[in-house]
Amino acid sequence: MKKVVITGATGMVGSTMIDYILENYPEYDIVAFKRRHSSLENIEHLLDNQKVFWEVVDIQDSVCVNSVIDWHKPEKLFHLAGQSYVPQSWKSPAETIETNIIGAVNILEGVRRYAKDCVVQLSGSSEEYGLVLPDEVPIKETNPLRPLSPYGMTKVAQENLGYIYHKSYGVKTILTRGFNHEGPRRGEEFVTAQICKQAAEIAMGKRDKFYLGNLEAKRDYTDVRDMVRAYWILTEKGEFGTPYNICSENCYAIKGLVHSVAKLAHISEEVVQDPNRMRPADVEILYGNCSKLKAQTGWKPEYDFLNDTMPGMYSTWVEKITGKPEVQFFVRGE
Ligand code: GDP
Repeated sequence: MKKVVITGATGMVGSTMIDYILENYPEYDIVAFKRRHSSLENIEHLLDNQKVFWEVVDIQDSVCVNSVIDWHKPEKLFHLAGQSYVPQSWKSPAETIETNIIGAVNILEGVRRYAKDCVVQLSGSSEEYGLVLPDEVPIKETNPLRPLSPYGMTKVAQENLGYIYHKSYGVKTILTRGFNHEGPRRGEEFVTAQICKQAAEIAMGKRDKFYLGNLEAKRDYTDVRDMVRAYWILTEKGEFGTPYNICSENCYAIKGLVHSVAKLAHISEEVVQDPNRMRPADVEILYGNCSKLKAQTGWKPEYDFLNDTMPGMYSTWVEKITGKPEVQFFVRGE
């Protein structure tokens, strides 16, 4: 049996990647890395699956990473573990650097030493671009990288390491720059989940208004299911050691997302700006061009963010808050 390793397997992206592989590539066994105390919420449906093998691995522990990679000798590895929340990277910059940079070094070292032919996807981010000038959008891979957060810096470092390991040792690294991607498993600290959670609370009479941060920011949003499919396709058709943007090429202002979900929930879109939700520096616009990915792989998004992803997230929050499934708010075609 061929093996694929997923790090960060309990997270939104890792668990969605497992679902995708189980559905489309039954010839692979999945080796899923999780930390000892991570939440099982996203993977409860996978715990009894005979094709998924759970390994308790802290990616900061190089000895453990090496021995597990040596034991399984995977053909592919998707490195989806990391500290991914930008504000947390200001609160705990050292921890973010350790998890994201040292963690990536440990994975690359493990592969270099014990699974030389393994294709390794490293999940970089549009946050690597950071400060984007008005005439630079939609952003191409050739744009200068000017990260504005410790998080963005760690993703630049991780990508540089992926390039170095490819050039120096021939490690087959796939370097992805994923723009924002979301789904019902997204942690509630992110703005899309906050908007859906607060909208559900307003609709249920549990709060009166939205409380959010910077509404002027603009992001290029993709459904997480499209994102993991792009990661997989790049491991089959991508070029090693060169970055790829992954995005929908649609740019949404945060206030536009509030408008769309408020309409879905039949509630007022009044927002109170909460100073605690403002950042020391915010990236104003991340709007991508992914023609390189499309031309080389044929990938294109299958889900529409406003008509598929956000309604799915909203219904999940209604269900979490009321305990009942919610279906009547679907607005496709409106
Ligand atoms: P990011 O793009 O990876 O930082 O994803 P987030 O979902 O954390 O933030 C996206 C954008 O929404 C950023 O520009 C935030 O400043 C903005 N934003 C506005 N209000 C909020 C909020 O209440 N929570 C979060 N997380 N972001 C907010």
